[in-house]
This record gives sequence, C-alpha cells and structure tokens, in this order.
Amino acid sequence: MNFLITGAAGFLGSKLANYLVREGHQVRGLDDLSTGDPQALSPDVLFTRGDVNDRPKLWTLLQEVDCVYHLAARVAVPESVLYPREYNAVNVGGTVSLMEAMRDVGVRRVVFISSGAVYGDQGEQPLKETAHPNPRSPYAVSKLAAEYYVRTIGDLWGIESVCLRVFNAYGPGQHLPPSHPPVIPNFLKQAMRGGTLVMHGEGQQTRDYVYVDDVVSTMIAASTAPGINHLVINVGSGIETSIRDLVRLVGETTGAKLEVLTNPRTSPGVSRMCADLSLAREKLGYQPRFSLAQGLRLTLDRDARFRVEPPTRPVNRA
Ligand code: NAD
Repeated sequence: MNFLITGAAGFLGSKLANYLVREGHQVRGLDDLSTGDPQALSPDVLFTRGDVNDRPKLWTLLQEVDCVYHLAARVAVPESVLYPREYNAVNVGGTVSLMEAMRDVGVRRVVFISSGAVYGDQGEQPLKETAHPNPRSPYAVSKLAAEYYVRTIGDLWGIESVCLRVFNAYGPGQHLPPSHPPVIPNFLKQAMRGGTLVMHGEGQQTRDYVYVDDVVSTMIAASTAPGINHLVINVGSGIETSIRDLVRLVGETTGAKLEVLTNPRTSPGVSRMCADLSLAREKLGYQPRFSLAQGLRLTLDRDARFRVEPPTRPVNRA
C-alpha cells in the first residue's frame, strides 16, 4: 500500500514509518522538524520537510496514497497552556488543511492519532470511549476538536476515518525536551545519572503507560480493519499505574538507588487515567504484548541516551 505519514520524523511517526517500509509498503513522510529528527527514519522512507498547513505540498504528497496517518502535532501539555493559538493552528488547522487536501486529491482513509488526554478528569476507570470528554488543557481541546473535524468532514466528503486515542506512549527515541520532559524518559535519564526524581503532588496520580510497539500494532491494524469507519478507539495497556509504582519500577529496572522528592505544591494534573480496551480488542484484534517492566527494560537497552559509560580507570604510568 501507499501511505503518507504526517509527523513522520517524530517518536511514534518514525517507528510506524520504519515498520511499514520493512513490510514492503511505499511510505512518504512529512514533518516540519520542529521537534522531529529525520535521522530516526529508514532511508527507504521518502521524506519531505514541510508544514502540515502547506496545502500545495500536501496535494503533491497525497497523489496515489491509499491511507494517511495523521500524527503531526504540537504535543506538550504545559506549552499548550502558554501558546494555545499555536496549538490550535497546528493541531486543529493542520488537520483541516490535511482533510481538505485529501478531499481534493481523492484519498479514501485517514487514521488520526488522538490522545487519551481528551477524557481529562473522570470519576470512573477504566475509561470507555463513550465517556463524555472533559479536556483540561489547550492540547487536549485541540485533539478533541481535530477528532470532531476528522469524523464530521470525513463523513461529509466520503473519507473513511478512525481516531485512535493513545494514552501515555513511551519507548526508545521519545523526544525529551528539557523544559517539559515526558515522565518515563525523564525518570530513566535521572536514574541513570544518579539524580533525584521529583514527583508532582504526592505521586498518587495514575496513568496508563503503553509501549511504542503496542501502539504501532494498533496503527497498522487501523489502516485496513473493516467496520471501523467513524470510530474512536482507545489505545493503552489497560493497566493503571501510580507515579509511585512507576518510580519503584524505574529503580528496579535501572538498579539505581533513587532519591525521590515529592512536590505537593505542583499540580499532578489529571488524577487517574486508564484505558478500557474492549473496543480495540474487538475491532483491531489488539492485545498489548509488553508489560511496563518489559517496556522499561527495552527502552533502557535500546536508547543510547540512557547509557552511562563506565568510569575510565586512571592510567598507571610507571
Ligand atoms: P513528537 O513530537 O515526537 O511527534 C510530532 C511530530 O510532528 C514531530 O516530529 C514534529 O516535528 C511534527 N510537527 C509538529 N508540528 C508540525 C507541523 N506544523 N507540520 C509538520 N510536522 C509537524 O510526538 P509523538 O509522541 O510522536 O506524537 C505523535 C502524535 O501522537 C501526536 O499527534 C500526539 O498528539 C499523539 N499522541 C502521542 C502520545 C504519546 O504519549 N507520545 C499520546 C497520545 C497522542
């Protein structure tokens, strides 16, 4: 098949692109490299640097494409609080530009990578797709608005769509900006450097951490699975893990003696998050393969940024 992946040079996009070319598919990648790294891509991916709002570029890239994976986005929740207009322009505006270009060229299917963040704080866990969204940040609002656009104009224009609400994905190669690092690579880095882990609040908040290869398996299934047009489908591990338990697992995986600080004054954000996977199982045949302990081990082993060189011995000079 012929695919276009937006955000192809990012953490999830590059893993997906490399998997698809290994399977013999034709893959074009678009990314403005605002955070992405083209070095992460196999040379077999036809890469173009560009903005997802650049419609002439999209028209060219979409020729002969069977399915689009739309991942290009600004993804940092704290940053979105500071720059909501920018998040709206890229995450919502970029999605509408892409859908218009797909309509113009006649592309039939889009897989949109949305986020579990659209649920926000909810009473009951695990979260079913039928829960009423309660976005708590401009990032979450932008992903929810993009979902509505994809499904609504997809229906109006005859473009099949499916939205995957990915929970907290992690794995080797995840972008690690110093100003707002995602929790798992940040904890692994601190642990390997013998540093201190800081938990927001008291560390009781929970998240659903899903290993990148499990996420990729759902994206692959979503490009061809029948009977999923218009659906929103959760993608997680189905396991709820508190930050305290994550810290313990990071300690066990790295073997590091950790100093842990709590910061009760900082907000822990959404208090609980766990995906109900019934729909993903039924529609995508999804079964998560990696436990958090396995995923942390693989992340540590496969990401050179977490490797600590053994101290060099002083040279004995006679
Ligand atoms: P990422 O930042 O590594 O990837 C996003 C990519 O989009 C980057 O390579 C960036 O350069 C590119 N990009 C940003 N603005 C662009 C623009 N205007 N035009 C073209 N490219 C642009 O993040 P990721 O974790 O790989 O996330 C990929 C997608 O998955 C995003 O849509 C994100 O919202 C979604 N998602 C990620 C997670 C997660 O835990 N990683 C969870 C839920 C949803």
